[in-house]
Order: sequence, then C-alpha cells, then structure tokens
Amino acid sequence: MNAAPDKPAPHPRPRVVILGGGFAGLRAAQALRSAAADITLIDRNNHHLFQPLLYQVATASLSPADIAAPIRQILKKQRNARVLLAEAASIDTARRVVRLSDGGEEPFDHLIIGVGARNWYFGRDQWAAHAPGLKDAADALAVREKFLLSFEAAEREPDAGRRRAILTFVVIGGGPTGVELAGAMAEIARRAIPREFRRIDTTTARIILLEGGPRLLDAFPEHLSARARRDLEAMGVEVWTDSRVTSIDDHAVTIGEERIVTRNVFWAAGVRASPLAESLGVPLDRAGRVMVGNDLSIPGHPNVFVVGDLACVNDAKSGAPVPGVAPAAMQMGTFVGRLLAREIAARTRGEPVLSRPAFVYRDKGNLATIGRARAVGVIAGRGFAGFPAWALWLAIHIVYLIGFRNRVLVLLQWAWAYFRYERGARLITQPSAERVAKLRGGV
Ligand SMILES: Cc1cc2nc3c(=O)[nH]c(=O)nc-3n(C[C@H](O)[C@H](O)[C@H](O)COP(=O)(O)OP(=O)(O)OC[C@H]3O[C@@H](n4cnc5c(N)ncnc54)[C@H](O)[C@@H]3O)c2cc1C
Repeated sequence: MNAAPDKPAPHPRPRVVILGGGFAGLRAAQALRSAAADITLIDRNNHHLFQPLLYQVATASLSPADIAAPIRQILKKQRNARVLLAEAASIDTARRVVRLSDGGEEPFDHLIIGVGARNWYFGRDQWAAHAPGLKDAADALAVREKFLLSFEAAEREPDAGRRRAILTFVVIGGGPTGVELAGAMAEIARRAIPREFRRIDTTTARIILLEGGPRLLDAFPEHLSARARRDLEAMGVEVWTDSRVTSIDDHAVTIGEERIVTRNVFWAAGVRASPLAESLGVPLDRAGRVMVGNDLSIPGHPNVFVVGDLACVNDAKSGAPVPGVAPAAMQMGTFVGRLLAREIAARTRGEPVLSRPAFVYRDKGNLATIGRARAVGVIAGRGFAGFPAWALWLAIHIVYLIGFRNRVLVLLQWAWAYFRYERGARLITQPSAERVAKLRGGV
C-alpha cells in the first residue's frame, strides 16, 4: 500500500519528537527509554531549569548553574534519544512536521509538546520593559542585576528623594513567586548587606508586595494566606492587597489614584501558555493552553500530545482542573511517555493497541516559602506553617533538583545562608555605569 502523498515516507522505527526539556518533556523522554523508537528532544535552551528555585537566583542565593543541568548530559545514557538545540516555530499536524525558527523541519510520527508558559502582562506588553518577570535563567539574572545595582546607585545618590525611589522595590503578584521574591529581598536588605554600605542604611529599603485580589497565596486556605502576610510583614515587607496595578513606567507604579515612586518593579503576576500552541489551530482556553482529551492528546490527533503548563485538562478522578505546577507537569510527561511506549511495543509485536487510560493527577500538596524558617504548606489536606513547612520545602526541592552536584552545592549554600545570612551569588556582570546613571535619573 502506498503512503498518503502528504505524509512523510514510512520510517523503520517510529519517530517521537518532544518539544521542551522542562519537567514534562524530560519525564516523557525518560519514560520512553526502553521504547523501540527514535526520540528527538528539542529545546531552545541547552539546559533543563528548575524554575521553582529561580527566585533564589534572582535574589543572589544561588547561581544559574546550581539549578540547571544540560539536557544532553541528563539524557546521555539514553541511547534512543538525541537532543537538538533549536526553537520550534510552528507545528503542521497534517504534514507531521515541526517547523523550526531557523527554517529547518523535524518530521514526527508522534509528537509531545511541553513548551510551557511565558511571562504575561495581561496584554500590556509595554510593562515588560519596566517590570522584568521571572521565567528563565536570563530573567533571573536581569532581576538580580537590577536589585543589586539599586543599592550601588543609592550609595552614590546624594538626593534623599531619589535615594528613596531607588530603594523602593515593588513586587507585583501575591502568588508563591511574588511572596518568595519579596521575602528574600527583605532578608537581603535587612540582614545580609547592611554592614557593607557606608552612606545608606539598607534596612530602610521599602519592599512592597502588590496583589490584585483580597489575599496572598490564593491557592492556599485563608488562614495560611493570613499567616504568610503576617510573616512577610514581620520581615518588613509592606503587603498591599486589592491593589490592581493600572500603569507602570520607569519612575512609578500606579494603582488607581495611588502612585508609588520607584525605580524597581518586578513582575510575578502572571504567565500565559507558549504562543506555539496557536499554530496548532485547535481550541485554546483563556490562558492560551491547549484543551486536550483525558489521554492528553489533541482531539482528532491521537498522535499529538500536550503536557505540562501548556495543557488544559481536568483530573479524570476529581474533575478538578490540573494546576500548572511542576509535579503535574512531571506526572503528565511520565503518563504520555509510558502510554506511547506501551503502544509502540504493542505495534512492534503486531498486537492490537488497547484503549487509552485517562490521566489522573496525584496532588501531593502545596508549599510556599516566605523566608528563613518561614513557609506555609498543605499536605494531604492538612495545613501547616513555620519551621516544619520550611524544612519540608527545603527537603522536597533538594530531592527534585536534577544532578547530584546541584544537590550538594545548593545544600551547602543554603546552610551557609542560614547560619551567616550571606548571599553567595552577588555578582553584577553586565556593564554598570549607564544603568546606575539611569537608576539615579530624575524622579
Ligand atoms: C518563578 C517560578 C516559580 C515556580 N515555583 C513553583 C513551585 O514552587 N512549585 C511548583 O510545583 N511549580 C512552580 N512553578 C511552576 C513550574 O515551574 C511549572 O509548572 C513547570 O515548569 C511546568 O513544566 P513544563 O515542562 O510544562 O514547562 P517548563 O518547565 O517551562 O519547560 C518548558 C521548556 O520548553 C522550552 N521551550 C519553550 N518554548 C520553546 C520553543 N518554542 N521551542 C523549543 N523549546 C521551547 C523551554 O526552554 C523549557 O525548557 C514555578 C514557575 C516559575 C516560573
């Protein structure tokens, strides 16, 4: 029988292309390790990044290499997998090819899309220039440089009003990332660096956390949101709830009638699915995620799966939406990888392919850290806070970090920071003079 004219020629082993080496894509590749298939993992970065610890890079506790690992190295023992450093630009499901941004094409028999999300400014893209977000290693370094440079600029600024603006840090978004960022910034300004500056008192820095809704951490029970707020306030963070930002520029953040004069705004208020999803021409939800069936494939395209933050799916057991968190992404990746491995094995043996199972999300709980020995968490429906939650947060993040070297390095640096309050990654590597001048520019 001839192959359909618009389909690629038959290939001796099925070709599985995986887009994205994040939590979901990587798990999918690993679950296919024994499959008789040729797996190609494509990522626009050469590393897998542990995003839950990005805020620690942004606040100079860790270096990017501590929370990242080369994808090539992770998959080096997996003989059926190859890694390509490339950016997927669009997907042609009819021709079964992924088009790359450099003009190349990658054909597939099965496709697993796990390219995640990006910063989202609610359609106000112009805010991005004033309020860096936190999604990849470059973002974290940009935040770190801006934060550290502000103290340098303030040390040189004789005008009290300008100094005040330079030392006002506004974090937008009261979810886990905003809470972590604001807490860590307060600790640095109040504990880590005060004795290093001569003209400024870094403990007077204002750190303001803005949240549009009525409470912080809205995925947590109310009493834990309240606890997080109390902890942050005890650490010197001003928490403003019901504060919807209406404009951001180089000099201020505006919330309705209120204007906060500041040179430092950081964005932790939202992400949106990768624009790659739009090229599929299938229904997307309001956050731009692909609405997949309960086997995580796209309706009408049983060979194309979407996993991780890019997928919009309800848990097959509880009916609740599966959240955009790392454990869900890992579980989806493993689910699809195993499902495909089983189907490929059945086809190889000439056996019929059985009907597919539905994805069930195992919710292992939720934790958010606030600062040194302060965190909140819900595990197995039970809420807890303070040191036990923090210790658990620490342990879980160490366990899930990829690479023994990373685990050891991160543990050492956390221990150091815990006992000495010092931050070990306080390098400003980009040229500073112009940026210091900009920070000191007129109020
Ligand atoms: C700052 C921050 C803190 C977080 N904290 C937590 C937390 O504490 N706990 C928790 O559970 N979750 C947390 N999350 C969410 C969690 O990181 C995500 O749910 C998870 O990373 C989703 O995994 P993924 O594989 O879908 O996408 P990602 O991990 O984002 O991976 C996507 C991959 O695709 C690649 N890619 C993107 N576009 C393309 C393209 N066009 N072509 C090729 N490659 C591409 C990227 O380089 C990346 O490697 C946090 C997220 C952020 C940003």
